[in-house]
Amino acid sequence: MNALEMKVANLVELSKVEVGYEEIPSIAPNEVLIKVEAVGICGSDIHYYKHGHIGKRTVQYPHIQGHECAGTVVEVGSHVTKFSIGDRVAVEPGVPCRTCEKCRSGKYNLCDEVVFLSTPPYKGTLRQYINHPEDYVFSIPDSLTFEEATLAEPLSVGIHALNRANLKPGMKVLIMGMGPVGLMAVAATNYFNAEEIAVTDMVSHKLEVAKSLGATQTIEVSKQEIVENYFDVVIETSGAEQALASAVNSLKKGGKLVSIGFPRQQNVTLDLTTMLQKEIDLLTVYRYANAFPLAIKILNKLKDITSNIITSTYVLDDISGAMEKACETHLDTIKVIVYLNESSL
Ligand SMILES: [Zn+2]
Ligand SMILES: [Zn+2]
Repeated sequence: MNALEMKVANLVELSKVEVGYEEIPSIAPNEVLIKVEAVGICGSDIHYYKHGHIGKRTVQYPHIQGHECAGTVVEVGSHVTKFSIGDRVAVEPGVPCRTCEKCRSGKYNLCDEVVFLSTPPYKGTLRQYINHPEDYVFSIPDSLTFEEATLAEPLSVGIHALNRANLKPGMKVLIMGMGPVGLMAVAATNYFNAEEIAVTDMVSHKLEVAKSLGATQTIEVSKQEIVENYFDVVIETSGAEQALASAVNSLKKGGKLVSIGFPRQQNVTLDLTTMLQKEIDLLTVYRYANAFPLAIKILNKLKDITSNIITSTYVLDDISGAMEKACETHLDTIKVIVYLNESSL
């Protein structure tokens, strides 16, 4: 590796990732160069790793994954005004065009031109340096660690879900599936002052973590029943058909079903008849818009609790181990973090 090169994690074929080398990127006038410190492995990374595609989006090998990223600014472009060298930052991975109708109406997550780090064909953040426009980079407080700051990305999804549901203080909320997005949705719902936050999962350890984030009731799926006709809002993060069915049953009349989890198959069955009779609103969530600043604020309030979510850490040299560990979501594994600039002993 020469001085202008960096290490990257290349996905070279299905379920095979190895360390490679690339030139350190150069920056445009509106960009900063970030030394990547920590990257969280996301469910979508696992999906591409195992299956090579999500829907019609297909990986071209070699591919660099990762989009939950925090690091240090090491170089600033000539037009950059918000940052200086040494600033600690979180990276919002989706950069939209900023000019289309969707962008101008604030729904930039739906921009057709969005460049989203790690979504093929764009490179992700599992590399030692990335260039990124300064308006999609956010300062983090000194009290927040880099690994905690990577959670701003899944937390933004939770915040966006609550914005979609127009969640009001005093509402009763059920959140299904305690993966990172579900857990982060619990944290956000707690911050929004919901009256009750019930949560479901099959792994009891994850339910315990949900409690520490503010869940008021835990339901171990297959062992405990979910009360019917009760909740104002259900946030469903698994995409499983059965979970969607219980979501419909558990909502009170006029309730809102917020669907975040991608289903395994393209088409799923929904009990539309019951939904009509209860006049249930179905809201879908695709990524997020304008959520990062609040996400960082909430994370900073959650100090120390978020460490429950980070269940394993790896260095880049052991990226294979990290990806395999991240696949173990049926066990106690919640969030796997990779350090990009620390070497193994
Ligand atoms: Zn993610
Ligand atoms: Zn746009």
